[in-house]
Amino acid sequence: MNANSIFPIPALDDNYIWCLHHEGDAVVVDPGDPQPVADALRTWGLRLRGILVTHHHYDHIDGIPGLLAAFPGIAVYGPDDVRAHGVTRTVGEGARIRLDAPPIDMRVMALPGHTRSHIAWCGGGVLFCGDVLFSAGCGRVFEGTMETMAASLDRIAALPPETLVYCAHEYTLDNLGFARWVEPDSPALARREAEAKRLRAAGRPTVPTTLALERETNPFLRTRTPAVKAAAERHAGHPLDTPAAVFAELRQWKDREYD
Ligand code: ZN
Ligand code: FE
Repeated sequence: MNANSIFPIPALDDNYIWCLHHEGDAVVVDPGDPQPVADALRTWGLRLRGILVTHHHYDHIDGIPGLLAAFPGIAVYGPDDVRAHGVTRTVGEGARIRLDAPPIDMRVMALPGHTRSHIAWCGGGVLFCGDVLFSAGCGRVFEGTMETMAASLDRIAALPPETLVYCAHEYTLDNLGFARWVEPDSPALARREAEAKRLRAAGRPTVPTTLALERETNPFLRTRTPAVKAAAERHAGHPLDTPAAVFAELRQWKDREYD
């Protein structure tokens, strides 16, 4: 599996449904809407062989029934959560999914925080992380604690730097605005914003991104960086003793004052 055989199917307002394919066989990740998936499969002459799901939010699962109707019997791998309607094979931390067509060999990481049962799919240098890590940002913490989410992001940050990060939304430009509040003097952020503007102006996605670029520019992966820690402490008005406390301050700052 490499980046040449993965393409985004834009859906809803700003979701990307990722399609992995090889010799006419395809798998999609987080189909929140069946129609754009059906259209893309027809356009490219692909048979749907399976579905991977990261979490139960509607914009990631609502396309499942329509796709199962069109492709009866395909497996839908996803989190063990009664709210993840349509999942037929539940998986958890460490599970390994191997398919022959298309050839896929991926491991499941349990990454709670955005939701309590959120999982990511990791293998072949590729990460499908749903709404945990975004390009230049991260998901909101709806379930669980800030510490839980910070730990999930730490696990992603420990993957190899060349890992391609396929997140589920096009949020890059918006996220970069907040990142520049945190690190206004970062040349890497200025470069990244210029590049993201160029891509969006050309109607192109800004994802996948790489973990190396995220470590350089994503404030939520930079809670141990002195400039980021200092910005969070200035905003809090007091010292923050742990990376998780820095993370919590950043997340609340963005939730309350930026979005
Ligand atoms: Zn979500
Ligand atoms: Fe989402």
